[in-house]
Formats: sequence, structure tokens, C-alpha cells
Amino acid sequence: MNKLKLVFATNNKNKLKEVQAMLTNFKIVSLAEINCFDDIAETANTLEGNAIIKANFITEKYGLNCFADDTGLEVEALNNEPGVYSARYAGIENDSEKNIQKLLKELGNDINRKAQFRTAVTLNINEKQYIFEGICKGTILKEKQGEKGFGYDAIFMPEGYNKSFAEMNMIEKGTISHRGKAINKLVTFLNNYTW
Ligand code: IMP
Repeated sequence: MNKLKLVFATNNKNKLKEVQAMLTNFKIVSLAEINCFDDIAETANTLEGNAIIKANFITEKYGLNCFADDTGLEVEALNNEPGVYSARYAGIENDSEKNIQKLLKELGNDINRKAQFRTAVTLNINEKQYIFEGICKGTILKEKQGEKGFGYDAIFMPEGYNKSFAEMNMIEKGTISHRGKAINKLVTFLNNYTW
């Protein structure tokens, strides 16, 4: 039987591999594989909005079933910033080191260090749209800890753990992470989907 083709609106090879391994009933393809090299502007002011923009761009331009994700770090004492602006917090170049230093400076010695990573996933399939959310709660450390991961991993300690995301391997992080949870909801939905 031919597998249903689904575009994952990303060119991040790690994300793609992770998701392909979870969705073996589907043929998951990246943007490059459908020859999409457009710079899709993420102009919404919510994570859901940006995930919708990306998924709709592909569905409208190529007429394909598609899903897209968007993630942000929401820090309670900073009114949930940087949130949807997490990648560009310290400037458009998406420099993780600068983003971390800015966040640590803004938070200073605030005793409220509660934060959460939140991922929104939008799925466009057969003319319908579905949204899935994954949240990982934790706290912001006072300084960086660990070498693994990317983005804000070195200053985020997930609830119930004594180490940062940057001290976990990909599998350990994936089982508790925001993206892992959102993608798991997508996988459960798709694995029960009949078309
Ligand atoms: P994206 O929507 O997955 O591209 O994420 C936007 C930004 O949020 C990234 O550029 C990172 O700065 C940050 N981010 C997303 N996911 C993670 C994560 O799992 N750990 C640390 N930072 C992350």
C-alpha cells in the first residue's frame, strides 16, 4: 500500500529524523524534498499563528497535506517573554549565546524563575486543520549548565530534574520535552487517522 505523503514544514534534519522514526506509516518529506526554498515569514504574534502560516503556505502553494511547528520559551516573571520571539530575542541573527545572555540579564536575581517551553503544531490534512500543543515546565538557571542541545537548553531545568536540558541526551530530552509531547499527540492522531 502506498504511504500517505505528508510534508513537515522544516529543513531541520534532526527534527525530520525524529519525526520520521515516529511516523513509519507515513512518507514524511521536508521542504527541500518538495523543492520549496521560500523564506516563509513568521509574522504572527503567537506560536499557533506562525505554525498556521507555515502549514497554510505549503498547502496553498503545493496542494499538499502538511504539518508545521513553532516553539517558544515563556518566562513567567518576564510576562511570558521571549515566547514567540525566542529565536530573535537578542537580534535577527538567532544567536543562542546572545539570547541566553539577554534573558539572564532581564531576569537578573528575580526569585521567580518559573518558565515553560511551549510548542504548537498545526496539521493540514484533507481540507481540515488540527492544532496540537506540548508544554514542558521548569525553571531558568542563574548560569549555563551543560554542553548538549541548542537554543536555551543550557539555562532550562525541567521540573522534577536536577539537571538542565543541555545535560540530557536527545532521547531523554525527547521523552519529556515540549516538542516531544506535541509531536506525540500528532503521532497518536495520525496513527488512528482513517482516510
Ligand atoms: P523553533 O520554532 O523550533 O525554530 O524554535 C524557536 C526558537 O526557540 C529556537 O531558535 C530556540 O532559540 C528556541 N528553542 C526551541 N526549541 C528549543 C529547545 O528544545 N531547547 C532550547 N531552545 C529551544
